[in-house]
Amino acid sequence: MNLILFGPPFAGKGTQAKNLYADFKIPQISTGDILRKAVREGTEMGKLAGPLMAAGAYVPDEIVIGIVEERLKEPDCVNGFVLDGFPRTPPQAEALERMLARLGKKLDAVVSLEVPTEKLIERGSGRRSCPTCGAVYHVYQNPPKRAGFCDKDDTSLSQREDDKAEVIEKRLKKYETETASLKQFYAQRGLLKSIDGVGSPEGIYEDIKKALGKA
Ligand code: AMP
Repeated sequence: MNLILFGPPFAGKGTQAKNLYADFKIPQISTGDILRKAVREGTEMGKLAGPLMAAGAYVPDEIVIGIVEERLKEPDCVNGFVLDGFPRTPPQAEALERMLARLGKKLDAVVSLEVPTEKLIERGSGRRSCPTCGAVYHVYQNPPKRAGFCDKDDTSLSQREDDKAEVIEKRLKKYETETASLKQFYAQRGLLKSIDGVGSPEGIYEDIKKALGKA
């Protein structure tokens, strides 16, 4: 199954990508995670992307397109993949079509998680992550066992630079102006499955499986 998980920041794409991996062994390809790793490791790409990400801006198309093309060639993508956070612009969506054709693959569905803006802001401002392993928590909805520390490696949790209130607002605006129109692009191709992204993660996952004919 070759999927795109589509939706604004904090829609729950990462959580649902992990559920899909657990059931179908299709890897999550998160351009945000790959870029954050590059920033942590201080690579050339990370040095370029870091300030843009911290400001809630997009990383240039050619960089993220290159990341995805390399990743899709990895052997673990033979049975499918879940793209999370890509494509975000029309040129990225068009490049994805060309690259999938080159690789002899095609998209099966684009699952769009629909969540109202107020909810996104509430989720975003409470998000905390582990700088060591990347595990994600929420101060109210998914708190760690010991407040402020990662369950997996006991590292002190922090708020991502781009999860600060003023940056959250910019990211959501950017989604509205540059990314949301892609829903139309995929609806025209008959691939779009819109899912209500408010509710329990388990219930939302059931709806996703139904929409994919896998329930
Ligand atoms: P995410 O974790 O998907 O919300 O991504 C975090 C940040 O990484 C975004 O706010 C962008 O700065 C950058 N980023 C991730 N994916 C893309 C993409 N497809 N195009 C441009 N920038 C991206």
